[in-house]
Amino acid sequence: MTTAETSSKPWNSIDALANAVRSCTGCGLHSTRTNAVPGSGSSKAEILIIGEGPGFNEDQQGLPFVGRSGKLLDELLAAIPMSREDVFITNVVKCRPPDNRDPLPDEVAACRPYLERQMELLDPKVVVTLGRVSMLRFHPKGKISEDHGKILEWEGRILFPLYHPAAGLRNPAIKRELQKDVLKLPEALRQANRVSPKNIDDKIDGEITTKAPNSPVTQEDQKLPEEEQENNNRPSSQTAEASTADAQLSEPLLKNETTKEKGDRQLGMF
Ligand code: SF4
Repeated sequence: MTTAETSSKPWNSIDALANAVRSCTGCGLHSTRTNAVPGSGSSKAEILIIGEGPGFNEDQQGLPFVGRSGKLLDELLAAIPMSREDVFITNVVKCRPPDNRDPLPDEVAACRPYLERQMELLDPKVVVTLGRVSMLRFHPKGKISEDHGKILEWEGRILFPLYHPAAGLRNPAIKRELQKDVLKLPEALRQANRVSPKNIDDKIDGEITTKAPNSPVTQEDQKLPEEEQENNNRPSSQTAEASTADAQLSEPLLKNETTKEKGDRQLGMF
């Protein structure tokens, strides 16, 4: 298996990248997918929403978040009010793992360049992570039960972790948290305009809740809250493979950076 080619940044647009994803054979998931799911939304979006990976419905349709989780996500966005046309939605891995298992480390590594390039091309002001696994790519010491709904500073952008909508479907209390948290997204976007790479190390006044800490995730941190161990988009199981995958998923996004450039990027990426 080979990782997706990025050395020469071959995808100069979101559409070109999507076409590459649809024909990608970079990992074994290509052999079991119905459709790859590169992502959808506006190429000018200031908000990038990242889930873990496609589920059954997404695999069938080639679009992200089209099942019940997607319907709840639409409802959450409508409350702001926003729609899918205002954001871009994608996943850490672009093809559905069989039986909704967690993606394996080599699958995550193979798919990483696509998310790297999506980040570069979209250059979002706010990155919204859905669920614990996606959050850990940016905030490896984070705990979704504590950090959901916080407006965090990351790499000159705002990181805004939310519970996964599927967790909200199963647990009314989590759904209420989601409904409450998403109302802060416009404020997160407003604050994003005040954060830039040049002041990344500066103290930012009290409106930004926390800087996501720059330290590796611990075994304990990798435990899922019980209510989040399943989701109907990408159910998670606490397998040894998952723990290994999490560790690998926490590697920096851009591999060719200098130590200085890495900075908060070491917060953990895809
Ligand atoms: S999961 Fe990613 S790397 Fe693997 S085949 Fe799909 S697009 Fe390619």
